[in-house]
Amino acid sequence: MSQSPLPIHLDLAIIGGGVAGLWLANRAKRAGFSIALFEAKALGSEQTLASQGMIHGGMKYTLAGALTGASEAIAEMPKHWRACLCGEGDVDLRHTRILSDHFFMWSGDDLGSKLTGFLASKITRGRVEPVHQDRRPPLLRHKDFTGSLYRLEDIVIDAPSLVANLALNVKSHCFQIDWSQAKLHKNAEGKVSLRIDTPEQPLEIHAQRFVFTAGKGNAELLQQLGLASPAMQLRPLQQVMVKHHHPFDFYGHCLGQESTPRLTISSHRLPDGAQVWYLGGSLAEKGAGMTPDDLIEQAKQELGELIPWVNLEGAEWATLPIARAEPLQPGLLRPDNAFIAHAEGASNLLVGWPTKLTLAPNLANQALDLLGDAGITQSHNNINLHQYLPYAELAKTPWELAFPPAMSAEEALALRFREPDDEDDQQ
Ligand SMILES: Cc1cc2nc3c(=O)[nH]c(=O)nc-3n(C[C@H](O)[C@H](O)[C@H](O)COP(=O)(O)OP(=O)(O)OC[C@H]3O[C@@H](n4cnc5c(N)ncnc54)[C@H](O)[C@@H]3O)c2cc1C
Repeated sequence: MSQSPLPIHLDLAIIGGGVAGLWLANRAKRAGFSIALFEAKALGSEQTLASQGMIHGGMKYTLAGALTGASEAIAEMPKHWRACLCGEGDVDLRHTRILSDHFFMWSGDDLGSKLTGFLASKITRGRVEPVHQDRRPPLLRHKDFTGSLYRLEDIVIDAPSLVANLALNVKSHCFQIDWSQAKLHKNAEGKVSLRIDTPEQPLEIHAQRFVFTAGKGNAELLQQLGLASPAMQLRPLQQVMVKHHHPFDFYGHCLGQESTPRLTISSHRLPDGAQVWYLGGSLAEKGAGMTPDDLIEQAKQELGELIPWVNLEGAEWATLPIARAEPLQPGLLRPDNAFIAHAEGASNLLVGWPTKLTLAPNLANQALDLLGDAGITQSHNNINLHQYLPYAELAKTPWELAFPPAMSAEEALALRFREPDDEDDQQ
């Protein structure tokens, strides 16, 4: 293309539209920065819509014993999210569905006393309470349930509605990027820019700061620029999905002998109302290298041992291989906090991983602090790039993709409005 590129000047160009990029876009827009977010697939793809939606205060990370850095850093997050969900926080989440205002922790007999002793110390902090027999969730209200059960005052949010809500708040700022038509550049002073060859007009995007929030895509973006730091680690998982006929939902962790929960269950609805249990925890960590069939067999065994009274006959099963993307830690340890830092070798580039959905607000806080420290102020007007680029769409959930509806919405509608004559024709 010989046309000279149109220079576009922004305060922030965010690359990657998961919870990290979208949350930061919300905060930056509210703070008056001019922003554009560029998404390669669809908003919420990869980890965000694959998450279990648990906004936790870090309690499960303290199971090993003492409070760790992780539990201290994360402890305030549920309160922060609650304020946002009520429209009183730094991001307006009034359109985000809350799937549950609590979740459970339970353990079998063998671990009961350890759990009881440990959680008893937390009860005074008002975040955990033992559940009396007659207050149990329907799933565990069975005469054969003999474990200990606790209720945590943390929340579970519906990730698709979260993504839709965050996207709605910044709706004219999220664009689809096709990397076969786009390229990142770095000049001799280490300044990053982005060239996009749109059908109408080549664009050259300049920004006071580029921010990579592309999850596992961050490594590839850095590579495009010949940069290697900050480095990334991947923690592979394979989640299990069960579409079943059990009428009740459930959100909770079953504890085993290890510090990672033996099984984490969250419940999600398909568009046709059918229910899916989404299974993670140690099952998904250990199952990362298994074949889907072996892992499904393992999941059936686990559920058979833990809740044998639930009849899963006729259930449909699927798995989702997915990796958590995090900043590199010594010994592949879990990072304690959201991470965002300047890329080494570039003067206007930040790279971040929230490490947990829960910590997205924390990542945005850190990012805005870094902008403030660098003296970056609101300097450019917002420009809507929609005349050149399509808006980014919302991604589908893993369960919608695994269990597609038997018929499309159009077919279902056609069936409802079928004339009696049509039926006669077919007889
Ligand atoms: C199975 C699972 C369960 C989880 N459950 C929980 C939970 O219950 N609670 C919790 O707090 N955390 C949970 N997490 C962690 C949480 O989901 C992640 O930490 C968080 O979603 C990461 O968000 P992100 O925006 O950094 O990355 P992602 O959600 O991975 O988003 C990255 C986005 O960038 C886009 N992208 C990638 N490459 C490019 C590119 N080159 N150009 C443009 N765009 C690009 C992707 O398409 C995607 O939209 C879970 C994670 C997994 C995998």
